[in-house]
Amino acid sequence: MSGTSTPELRQPQSQKVTSRIAQLAPSQPFYTFEVFPPKTDAGLANLVDRVDRMSALDPTWMHVTWGAGGSTQERSLELSGAIQGMGLETCLHLTCTNLEEGVLERTLQRAKDLGVVNLLALRGDPPRGEEYWTASSDEFQHAIDLVRYIRKEYGNEFCIGVAGYPEGHADSADKLADIEHLYEKQEAGADFVVTQLFYDVEVFKKWYKACRDRGITIPILPGIMPIQNYLSFRRMTNLCGTHIPEDILSDLERIQHDDAAVKDYGVQLAVKMMRALFEHGIRGYHLCTLNLEKSVTRVLELLEWVAPGATRTRSAVQKALAANGAPLPKVVNSLRPAPAASPSVAGADIARKDSPASWDEFPNGRFGDARSPAYGEMDGYGVSLKLPPGEAIRLWGEPTTLADISRVFSSYLRGSIQSNPWSEEPLRAETAAISSRLLEMNDERHWWTVGSQPAVDGAPSADAVHGFGPKGGYVYQKAFVEFFLTADELDELERRSVADERARIDAGEGDDGLVKWFAGNMRGEFRSNLGKGDVNAVTWGVFGGKEIVTTTLIEEMSFRAWCEEAFALWKEWSLLYAAASPARGFIRSIAESRWLVSVVHHDYKDQDGLWRWLLSLKTSTTEQA
Ligand code: FAD
Repeated sequence: MSGTSTPELRQPQSQKVTSRIAQLAPSQPFYTFEVFPPKTDAGLANLVDRVDRMSALDPTWMHVTWGAGGSTQERSLELSGAIQGMGLETCLHLTCTNLEEGVLERTLQRAKDLGVVNLLALRGDPPRGEEYWTASSDEFQHAIDLVRYIRKEYGNEFCIGVAGYPEGHADSADKLADIEHLYEKQEAGADFVVTQLFYDVEVFKKWYKACRDRGITIPILPGIMPIQNYLSFRRMTNLCGTHIPEDILSDLERIQHDDAAVKDYGVQLAVKMMRALFEHGIRGYHLCTLNLEKSVTRVLELLEWVAPGATRTRSAVQKALAANGAPLPKVVNSLRPAPAASPSVAGADIARKDSPASWDEFPNGRFGDARSPAYGEMDGYGVSLKLPPGEAIRLWGEPTTLADISRVFSSYLRGSIQSNPWSEEPLRAETAAISSRLLEMNDERHWWTVGSQPAVDGAPSADAVHGFGPKGGYVYQKAFVEFFLTADELDELERRSVADERARIDAGEGDDGLVKWFAGNMRGEFRSNLGKGDVNAVTWGVFGGKEIVTTTLIEEMSFRAWCEEAFALWKEWSLLYAAASPARGFIRSIAESRWLVSVVHHDYKDQDGLWRWLLSLKTSTTEQA
C-alpha cells in the first residue's frame, strides 16, 4: 500500500431492517441468522471469520444476543459493531430488567455510534426488584417499557423488534393475553416480531392467524433452530417449555447417540418446517445458528434458496475489499483471527485446515474447544440460575452451614433433586460409575463438585452412555473433576502434585506428572501446574476415515471463562435471599473463600486413579475426622 494515511473502508449506510424487507420482492424468501457472543477472545475472533463466510449466504440481517442483566454487554456490542462494520445489517438484542444503572443509556448510545440501528427489545429475566442489589428502576417491568423508552429518547432512529410466543410465554397462563401484550408492543412502536423457537408448525399457524386477526400487522419472523445435538436440544426445549411433537421425539430418541445423524435430522426437519411455512405464505425466517454454519447452510441449499457451495464464494469482507481496495474498519480487523494463529491443539488445528466450517461441528460439553465460536452456553443469554426464584429456594433451601450446601450437592448426585445452581439438568448416565466417589467428596470433604467425567478406554461411539460422533468409531476419556475447595486444601493439592511428579521422574516412569490442574477464585487469581499454553485434552474419538477428533479440551482460556461464570453463579444463588438474610451472607462468604479447581488424571486406563489420588489428600477435614 502506498501513501502515509490508511484509508478506512467506507462504512456502508446503516439501514432499518423493515426498509430492507420493503425492498424485497413480495414473494422472495428471506432469512436472518442469530449468533451469540462467544465467551473467549479466540471464540469471538473465529466467529467474526465465520460470520464473514456466512455472509455469502446473503442473510437479510444478523442478530446478536445479549446476556440477561447485561452480562455480555461489552462482547455483544463489540460483535454487533464488527458485523455491522462488515456491511451486514445487525440487530442487537437488548433486555431491560435487572440492569445496573446507566447500562441502557450507554448501550443505546454505543449502538448508535457503531451504526447499529436495529434492536430486539426484550424484557429478560423477570425483574427482581429489591432482591437484586443493583436493581434498575421500576420503570422497566416488561419489554413494552423498553420500546416506549427507546421511542421517547430516540424517536425513530432505531428500528425495534420484539419477541412473540407461538406456544404462549412460560409466565403466562393465558395465550390470548400474550397476543394482547404483543399487540400493545406494536402500538407502542415495535416494527417487527421474532418468535420463540417451536417445532409444531400447526401451533405456529394458529397463533399467526390469531395475531393477524387481532390487528398485529408488522412482519412476524418464525424462530427456527436446526437441531445440532440431542442433549442440548432437550435442555433448551425443556428450559423454554417447547412442545415437541411425539414423532419428532421418538425419531430423535432412536438416533440420539449419533451426533452426525442428529444434525442431519435437524437439517431435514428445519427444511420440512420452512417449506410448510412458506406454503402458508411466510416469507421471512429467523435462523438460530448456535454459532455454527454447516446446518443453516445445508438448510438453505436444500430449500434451493442459495446455490450449493455459496460459502466458498466471496464473502462480505472480500467483496468490500475488492470494491474499495481499502482495509477493513478497525473494529472488524481487531477481532478477526491473526492469519498466523496456531492453536496449540493438533486435533482442532488439523480439522480446521480440513474445512473451516466444520472443525468444531461437535462442540461437546461445557469444556468444548474454547476457540470455537460455539463454545459456551446454548443461547448466549448469560449467567443465570435457569429456575424461577421460588422454585430454586424450594429445591435448595436456605443454606447457613457447610453441611447445608453439601446437602444440595449430594441430593443432586443422588437424584432427589434435578438441578443445582451449576447444573440445570439431571446428571448424565455416565456419572453413575463415579457417583460414590463424588458423594465422598461432597459429603465428607465439602468439596462441591460442579463437573466430572469417568475414565473411558475405547467405548464404541454408538455406546448409549459414553458414545458421541458418527457410529463405528471409538471414544476415550480421561477422568476429570472440578470442585470448590479452600485455599489450604488447594495448597495441599499443589504440594502433592509436585511431589508425585518428582517421584515419577526420579523413578524413570515419565517426564511429567499424571495429575494436572487449573484453579481460580472470585478475585480472578489463577494457579496451575501446567505450562503456559498447555492444555488438558480429556475426550477424543477415533472414527473411520477421519483424523482423531478431540471434542473436549480444558485449557487456561476455557477454564478462566468457566471460573468467572461459576463464581457469578454463587452470586446469583445468594441473590435469591433477602439482603440482610443469613443465607445471603453465608453464601457470599463461601464464594469469597473458595477456589474452583479442575483436576485431570492422565492415565485413562486407570478407572479409579483420579478418585484415589484426590481422596488420599490430607486436609483439615480429614484431620478433624
Ligand atoms: P415481555 O414482552 O415483557 O413478556 C413477558 C411476559 O409478560 C409475557 O407473558 C407477556 O404476555 C407478559 N406481558 C407483556 N407485557 C405485559 C404488560 N404490559 N403487563 C402484564 N404482562 C405483560 N433473553 C435474553 O436475555 N437475551 C436475549 O438476547 C434474548 N433473545 C431472545 C430472542 C427471542 C426471539 C426470544 C423469543 C426471546 C429472547 N430472550 C432473550 C428471552 C426473553 O428475554 C424472555 O423470553 C423473557 O422472559 C420475556 O421477554 P419478552 O421481551 O417477551 O417480555
